[in-house]
Amino acid sequence: MKPAPFEYLAATSAAEAAEALAAANGDGKIIAGGQSLMPMINFRLVKPTILIDINRIAGLDRIEKHGERLRIGATVRHRMTATDALVHRHIPILHDAMHHVAHLTVRNRGTFCGSVCHADPAAEMPVMTLLLDGTITALSIRGERQIAASDFFVGSLMTALEPDEFVTSIDIDTLPPETGWGFEEFSRRHGDFALACVATTLRIVDGVAGDVRFGMMGVGETPLRLPDIETLVEGQAISEMLLQDVSETLKGLLHPNTDIHASADYRLHLAGALARRALRDAWTRATLRKD
Ligand code: FAD
Repeated sequence: MKPAPFEYLAATSAAEAAEALAAANGDGKIIAGGQSLMPMINFRLVKPTILIDINRIAGLDRIEKHGERLRIGATVRHRMTATDALVHRHIPILHDAMHHVAHLTVRNRGTFCGSVCHADPAAEMPVMTLLLDGTITALSIRGERQIAASDFFVGSLMTALEPDEFVTSIDIDTLPPETGWGFEEFSRRHGDFALACVATTLRIVDGVAGDVRFGMMGVGETPLRLPDIETLVEGQAISEMLLQDVSETLKGLLHPNTDIHASADYRLHLAGALARRALRDAWTRATLRKD
């Protein structure tokens, strides 16, 4: 299909983009990589009156370390995140997750921040942002606003962004070097969106798991952080009995939908199986990194 007519602005500053968004009165759309937006425009699922391109704004294409956090600019491509040395060294779970995102051609254009703004419940970057206690920086003509990742994802393809706001960067935690991680996802073909995914990190402190983080996607309307599982695992050594307990607890916590890709029951089964694998991997890596 062909898109409905729209205007196009290649903004050269963040202020210009913010002004154009405000002037569009809710009918403007930011375009970053265009990998999700253009198909939606071509199918006329969205009909913006103006596309505001942020790719020419200087300084948004960087990954920088600020203290114990990494700042990912709004035009940082998936390919850059996948190959960045800071990401590899300080957040190896994110490095691993990137290999599951789409295909090379999509990764060459698609952006970390665009994926978070698109908020597909089966996408990897939203769950990583939640797992790593992300802070989203949004800009509008009213000024800058920081939004915690835990408040950002409000539904499938829905975020806490106001229509006149756009994201300039996202800050995420780096992980202490002794952290172990597990990233497990299942999709029918490599590069497809996941049917279910588990991302978890932990450290071994005095022989038991500490600083446990546990996130999931593909099993709800938004990416999920599951504090009940984090509490269950915290202070325990990973054992078959604990993994069984995690699997059973997930059945009560998750309410996945049945859709054309998989039934709710199948997604629940996957959740338990992936959780076991991811926690085992995290424990093994934490053991190796401790020595
Ligand atoms: P765009 O398409 O430019 O924008 C997407 C939406 O976000 C639009 O509504 C846009 O207005 C908004 N937006 C973008 N940037 C900003 C900003 N800075 N501030 C405010 N709003 C903004 N993704 C995965 O995670 N996993 C996959 O396995 C996967 N498989 C894919 C397979 C195919 C064939 C394709 C085409 C895409 C796939 N994707 C997958 C999606 C891909 O990762 C997209 O690049 C990503 O979801 C959106 O990033 P983008 O930069 O292209 O955003």
